[in-house]
Amino acid sequence: MLKILDAHIHLSERKDDALLRFAKMNALRYTLDGLLADMRKNGVERGLLLSPPLRNGLPLPNEDIIDICRRSGGKLSPVITAEPTAEAVEAAIGLAEKNRKEVKAFKVRLGYVNAPAESPVFDALYDYAQSERLPVLFHTGDTASDTGELALSHPLALDRLANRREELTIVLCHFGNPWFEDVAELIYKHPKVYADISGLTTGGGAYADKFAAWLARKVSEAIYFAGGPEKDIFGTDYPVTSYPDALDLVNRLEVDGGDKDMILCRNAKRVFGL
Ligand SMILES: [Zn+2]
Repeated sequence: MLKILDAHIHLSERKDDALLRFAKMNALRYTLDGLLADMRKNGVERGLLLSPPLRNGLPLPNEDIIDICRRSGGKLSPVITAEPTAEAVEAAIGLAEKNRKEVKAFKVRLGYVNAPAESPVFDALYDYAQSERLPVLFHTGDTASDTGELALSHPLALDRLANRREELTIVLCHFGNPWFEDVAELIYKHPKVYADISGLTTGGGAYADKFAAWLARKVSEAIYFAGGPEKDIFGTDYPVTSYPDALDLVNRLEVDGGDKDMILCRNAKRVFGL
């Protein structure tokens, strides 16, 4: 069976987890055991675990992410979320340094936090990420909250950072949804900019099937534009998107089987060293 890596998973064990409503919508247990069982059932070998947002708007503490990963039997690797304060950036770097064998990337929550990607507050984070060859994931595109700042999460907001830091590996989460063409240009233009296809569908809705077809067309066209799937990484954004829905998107892509294999596994393996 094809090996699958999931580069974008959320989980907590808290009642104030803001993603619980998505877990409910997708009928997921949203526990460590439930997640590991879902991964097994869908042929997902390993995954990256990111802090979910809590109901107060803050991310789950990074220490909790590291703890859950430790209890996952090697199935989950932590991604450290960095908020835009000097203290938070310093703590994020410290935690990555302390857990350097486990930590695979950093995450910046563009659109949810009051700082652009280029804010000097992140300079130390980017310097460290570059020197340790750790990718930085950026939330891009639509925000789950209706007060998110789209000007900050628009994928083109990352072009200048990518120009200034050619050695930094950047991953644009959610393919910049709905700005797929902008992401196509960014991953084509910048050798070290990638995109994940996580969190693009959730639940049903009257036009769910047409929407799934539209998404598959958009992602396929981005692959044609970039001349291949080398920059596209599979992820679910679990529990926002269930494994069957996320895998259905890859199935629908109008690219050949070897290219799907790159998206599902080989690209993440290369980029994150999984
Ligand atoms: Zn996410």
